[in-house]
Amino acid sequence: MPEEQSKRTEISQLGEFGLIKHIQKQFKTIHSSTTVGIGDDAAVIDAGEKYMLLTTDMLTEGIHFDLAYTPLQHLGYKAVAVNISDIAAMNGIPKQITVSIGLSNRFSVEAVDALYEGIRFACENFKVDLIGGDTTASQAGLVISITAVGEVEKNLLARRNGAKSKDIVCVSGDLGAAYMGLQVLEREKITFKENPQMQPQLQSYDYIVRRLLRPEARMDIIHELRDLQIVPTSMIDISDGLASEIFHLCEQSALGMNIYEENLPIDESTYSTAAEFKIDPNTCALNGGEDYELLFTIAQDDFEKIKNHRDIHVIGYMQEADKGINLITRSQQAVPIQAQGWVHFNTGDAS
Ligand code: ADP
Ligand code: MG
Repeated sequence: MPEEQSKRTEISQLGEFGLIKHIQKQFKTIHSSTTVGIGDDAAVIDAGEKYMLLTTDMLTEGIHFDLAYTPLQHLGYKAVAVNISDIAAMNGIPKQITVSIGLSNRFSVEAVDALYEGIRFACENFKVDLIGGDTTASQAGLVISITAVGEVEKNLLARRNGAKSKDIVCVSGDLGAAYMGLQVLEREKITFKENPQMQPQLQSYDYIVRRLLRPEARMDIIHELRDLQIVPTSMIDISDGLASEIFHLCEQSALGMNIYEENLPIDESTYSTAAEFKIDPNTCALNGGEDYELLFTIAQDDFEKIKNHRDIHVIGYMQEADKGINLITRSQQAVPIQAQGWVHFNTGDAS
């Protein structure tokens, strides 16, 4: 095409989010039932009494997973969980999934069975029906693309753009563990290549390795919020790292945020492994990615209901945009947060 010959823009110049915005600009929605299109964790479709939620995520070999250390059962489970997580992020309940796979000829029926064992387990766990998909050959290794459908009562929908100034910022679970799990597995892979007789010593890293290989979508938190009669004013799932998701939430809500370093939820084993690797554990929590926890805001009136919750952590508060997006360090210094995320078009890392 002549246009391509005269001008060539590298995808890395735009980055992943820039590229999505670039695509988004070229489309207008035409149906009034398209309530939310590109730009949130899931699309929202007006289905009459309720909203239908629709989201899709693709995992590709060599970018998102390395089969040298990824059991296929876990991979199948994870591929479903990352989609369920996006339905959760809208405060929705998942109902159905479709699963499409691209297979290289390295794969056997037994390998496909192992993958689907994990998918089946996730379907049971998250109570979703597998209702279709597609199967194709692939020259680029294993590709898994899953689409999830969910629903939410109209008054319970949580978008990225609904946070209000002074709302309380919460995070479920703990952060940074999956990133440290990846560091451990990559180290073991190198050790094994150099010395195949060595058996990997992973027992003490069980938790962090599991967080990477077999993450959970936090549907338990969604159900608990319903029980507590809390509707988050905004919500996003943490797939690319807390800092990156904070930026999405602040940008879409047109607000700033202060979060406290001492309140970042980090597991003991993440701390100890980060120390071993000489990595700052706060950096893992802020920029690690693949945690699949929920970042959400609630009205101050709801604070009492969650303040003693074992697995919901208050990390900060929303503020006017001109006050910025800051990390308040243990020494009470306000440091502007940089969103790094996982820029996989630049570095080959996954998101
Ligand atoms: P998440 O990390 O929650 O899965 P993404 O960052 O992948 O979200 O995507 C952000 C938004 O951009 C979503 O609404 C998603 O549907 C949309 N999106 C991503 N890639 C494309 C694409 N190639 N074409 C159209 N929309 C896209
Ligand atoms: Mg998401």
